[in-house]
Order: sequence, then structure tokens, then C-alpha cells
Amino acid sequence: MTTDAFIGLGSNLENPAAQLAQAVAALASLPDSVLVAQSPFYASRPVGPQDQPDFVNGAVWLRTTLRPHELLDHLQSIEQRHGRERLRHWGPRTLDLDLLVFGNQTLADERLTVPHKELPNRDFVLQPLLDLEPALALPDGRTVKELRQHCPDNDLHKLPPVAREPFTPS
Ligand code: AMP
Repeated sequence: MTTDAFIGLGSNLENPAAQLAQAVAALASLPDSVLVAQSPFYASRPVGPQDQPDFVNGAVWLRTTLRPHELLDHLQSIEQRHGRERLRHWGPRTLDLDLLVFGNQTLADERLTVPHKELPNRDFVLQPLLDLEPALALPDGRTVKELRQHCPDNDLHKLPPVAREPFTPS
């Protein structure tokens, strides 16, 4: 079965926009998955401790036949390849990948909560989702558009597109 999955990306270390661009490329080459679209990237102030660099966030839309936990395994291995270090809760990180929405499925176990728990409270997640699919709704019927209207504002700034490395045939 093919499912539309939405994945949130965030980074605030080691050239965050480049981290995100590389992560999008890694997501685009996942097995049994097709990249439908990627959102613009946004800069925002950090949630939690303020003595850390601003975050860059974005989202991608994948069409996949992977199961949700298989997709999470892939997200975690991409995070590890980016040398993610968890120094403190809500602290700086090189790459954070979250499974935001997985079709109309609702899941809650020790590894995976979908839709992502914090989704309704984060404009830096909701705005890229809106950019990707203005009609997106959660399994409970709430639309991303109405959640965005009621979400605290985090001073988002849309960033210019990241230039891709030109392809040079050998
Ligand atoms: P964090 O990287 O701080 O967002 O949290 C990572 C932990 O959250 C991992 O242990 C995951 O198993 C768990 N988790 C629960 N739900 C999700 C989700 N929807 N997307 C990504 N990680 C999740």
C-alpha cells in the first residue's frame, strides 16, 4: 500500500541549511519511496534554551510503501550519518527528522507517535506542511491550516532556496 508521509527536518548546527539540503537528498533516495515535494526552509528562534543558534526547519512529502517503523528506522539512520549528538534535551542538534504525518494513520507506541505529538504547537512544522499541501488534515479531521492559525508565533523567516551542487557528467 502506498502512503503519503510528511517528514519534518530541523538543524541548528554546522551550516543548518546545508544539513537540511543533504537530508532531503537522502530522503529522496530512500527505498520504496518517491519524493513528491520539498518545502522552503525557515529560520526560527529555538524552542527551550535560548543560548543556542537559530534553527532551520523544513518538511518533505514522500510517497512510500515502507511501513511507519521502517521509515522511522531510515530517518534515525540518516540522523546518525549526520553525526547527531544529543547533548541536552531541546539543545542544539545537527539534524532532527520527525515523522509528522503518515497517511490517515494514528499510532502510539514506545517508539512512534503519529501524528507527531508537538505538531499542533509548532509554527515551524505547520508552515512548511501548509506550503507542501494547503489542504492537509490530520486523521482527527483538524486541518493544518486551522492549527497554524491557533499556533504561537515563533518569528519564522523564509530562507532563499539552497543552491544544489551542479551535476557534472564525467
Ligand atoms: P527527538 O529526536 O528528540 O524528536 O526524539 C526522538 C525519539 O522520539 C526517538 O526515540 C523516537 O523513537 C521517538 N519518536 C516518537 N514519535 C516519533 C515521530 N513521530 N517521529 C520521530 N521520532 C519519534
